[in-house]
Amino acid sequence: MSNVSNKADRALMEIPPGYLNIMGYVDNSEVNGPGCRAVVWVQGCLRACPGCFNPGSWPFETNQLITVDALLESILSNPRNEGVTFSGGEPFWQAPALAQLARQAKAHGLNVMSFTGFTLEELQGTRAPAGAGELLQELDILVDGPYVESLAIHAPDSLVSSRNQRVHLFNPALHDRLTWASDRMEIHILKNGDRLITGYRGQMNLTE
Ligand code: SF4
Repeated sequence: MSNVSNKADRALMEIPPGYLNIMGYVDNSEVNGPGCRAVVWVQGCLRACPGCFNPGSWPFETNQLITVDALLESILSNPRNEGVTFSGGEPFWQAPALAQLARQAKAHGLNVMSFTGFTLEELQGTRAPAGAGELLQELDILVDGPYVESLAIHAPDSLVSSRNQRVHLFNPALHDRLTWASDRMEIHILKNGDRLITGYRGQMNLTE
């Protein structure tokens, strides 16, 4: 799984430097990490986990290209955002650009968290996606491991969606902020009238 497929590889190579290919973005979220935060869902995942909450995030084809600078501006434009969470899709296939975004967000005092289908050990190994170490260095919190349907947790106080997943706290200052619940749901009404549903077992879903 750590080797990206040829098709995905080609799509990733088409993303210009300084850009991300994302599935969606929202801010003011309170179910995707500590406190109130922005969430970036990246486009592209190879795992096809049964029961995945976001199958629309699997294709690597271009969905929405956005510059790191534009995303940072959106995140900072909402003073309620105390951090940003990377979800997906698989954030680590776009690790170099996310590391850049994380570095800039942290320079403005925000904390940074990421979900990943990889384990931490895989991300630290020789077959990890390019830039994985660079992104790991910037993270305050990592939630690792794929979603495993047979190990699913449906509890209002669980930080993870399936029992194999782990929460790695890299920034001890956040030790009393591990209070989000993966089994809660949030509905955002966007400016164009679309509704974005997130938080229910990590789901990100757009409806009109
Ligand atoms: S790793 Fe996450 S986004 Fe990828 S298929 Fe599994 S649940 Fe879905």
